[in-house]
Amino acid sequence: MTQIFDNPADFADEALDGFVAANRGYVARVDGGVVRSTEVPAGQVALVVGGGSGHYPAFAGLVGPGLAAASACGNMFASPAAGQVYRVAKAANAGGGVLLSYGNYAGDVLHFGQAQLRLNAEGIETRTVLVTDDIASAPLDQIEKRRGIAGDLTVFKIAGAAAEAGLDLDDVERLAIRTNYRTRSLGVAFDGCTLPGADAPLFTVPAGHMSLGLGIHGEPGISDHPMPTASELAELLVSQLLADKPHDAGSRVVAIVNGLGTVKYDELFLLFGKIEKLLVAAGLTVVEPECGELVTSLDMSGLSLTLLWLDDELEQYWAAPADTPAFRKGNLASRPARQMAAADAEVASAVERPTPAAAELGRQAAAVLRQVRDVVVEHEEELGRLDAVAGDGDHGIGMRRGVEAAVTAAEQAAANDGGASPARVLTAAGEAWSERAGGTSGALWGSAIIAAGLALGNRDSYSGGDAAATVTAFAAAITELGKADPGDKTMVDALLPFRDAFCTALDGGASAGDALAAAAAAARTAADRTADLRPLKGRARPLAEKSLGHPDPGAVSFALIAARISAHTNGRLANPELAKQGAQA
Ligand code: ADP
Ligand code: MG
Repeated sequence: MTQIFDNPADFADEALDGFVAANRGYVARVDGGVVRSTEVPAGQVALVVGGGSGHYPAFAGLVGPGLAAASACGNMFASPAAGQVYRVAKAANAGGGVLLSYGNYAGDVLHFGQAQLRLNAEGIETRTVLVTDDIASAPLDQIEKRRGIAGDLTVFKIAGAAAEAGLDLDDVERLAIRTNYRTRSLGVAFDGCTLPGADAPLFTVPAGHMSLGLGIHGEPGISDHPMPTASELAELLVSQLLADKPHDAGSRVVAIVNGLGTVKYDELFLLFGKIEKLLVAAGLTVVEPECGELVTSLDMSGLSLTLLWLDDELEQYWAAPADTPAFRKGNLASRPARQMAAADAEVASAVERPTPAAAELGRQAAAVLRQVRDVVVEHEEELGRLDAVAGDGDHGIGMRRGVEAAVTAAEQAAANDGGASPARVLTAAGEAWSERAGGTSGALWGSAIIAAGLALGNRDSYSGGDAAATVTAFAAAITELGKADPGDKTMVDALLPFRDAFCTALDGGASAGDALAAAAAAARTAADRTADLRPLKGRARPLAEKSLGHPDPGAVSFALIAARISAHTNGRLANPELAKQGAQA
């Protein structure tokens, strides 16, 4: 049980504030997480890690010279929002580019992915290496589907050491990929974990039993076993990991026994001793092992074993010094404190000066978003019902939360002294949408609106070609981030027909208004047709049969929004004076 808090809703934030207060020599708080409080050599690659809170020392405890440059910190067991990741990475960037690395979970992939698109669009070169070490979560031939657990440490450590040694982004990325590929973990739990304020654990393990192959967010294990002796447990973990070793494994391994929350260090050490003997008996040399709490799961009673199969290059970076609040190795000269004000000023310096014409277009962008909000609110219940067929029923409320936050952010931006360009209005709106909406569709819509804003930029007028480029950028953000293909039964099945009809009509000489009307009609037809499809992506996938005969909620909401924007735009084109008043409302 977690017992120390005022309001459980503030647990993650207040714990992070206290962590920073206790570790000022290492970390400083930024909006969305923490960055190193010590100087970073110019041009160094910034390793930005992160994920939900509740896993300390992961992730904020691993920020410091020789390891991570920053950590984006979400709520308890929940991904940080894309905007948080973006701001943390921006504060951490030292001019050498950014490597994002985190455990492979759908929410994190969407939010970090969205941040990556935005950082790259702004010229901060950003790559991603996912950690996929948990052998219980998918077979070896689907290693890219595995979850990330304590293998976070090996990947972060080696990437961080490579960055510290001055390697460039290509090399840091290459080493992180190789480390991940050569890292394997398996966990066991003896009892579940409880979120602050909750009155029951996320799962339980029957007394006298052990659950094998569990996740670090309360995902239950794949099988229950009678509680083994320590020797039997060591044998089980070692034999399963050895059976899964990479094809080019050598004979030198890092072994990490990781406590998940409430197992005593003495017990971890006892087990480690037995594990090391088994590894040596298998002909292996154990190199610079770790035994302790490195990636936890709140108050879970459990532990995991990780093996990293070294080669000469990886061994060099594993052994390199590091100095962070929770992980120290070797000797590093102490670093002077960093001037934090400079980094804050850099984030704030994105302020622009739009021309009056660009500011008017910014106000029109906000007016379009108000239309989107109205149509979402009108259909909120219908969208929720559709999502409840095979999903979790939150599509209506999620879209509403997102679009309401987007409208507020857009109006605030447009109300700036001198107004704001469409780029500024829409990036503020998209960021707010994804932060408030949660869910898959929130990350996708937020990212697409930001991409559209960046495509529009800060200009006085737009051509048909600009409109086509904007619609194309909007669609590309969604397909790049969500990776859904046509026919997977997602919003993409309405989005791509919309994009194609829009561009074809413009190419054929249609006006923007007519092209929009044709595209909206194509989206509607395509959304209706998704009723014949089985979902292959997203939460609805496991209930594919139930979904047959019902259209995809994300495709339906997209078609409704497209129709409303078309009606609004065509109304405005027909009556420009009225529309101006609307834009000022
Ligand atoms: P969640 O699925 O997280 O509860 P929502 O209910 O708000 O999020 O949105 C569900 C919709 O998201 C689906 O109907 C589908 O259109 C869309 N969706 C899910 N996964 C993807 C994806 N990978 N690419 C594009 N759209 C997706
Ligand atoms: Mg849903």
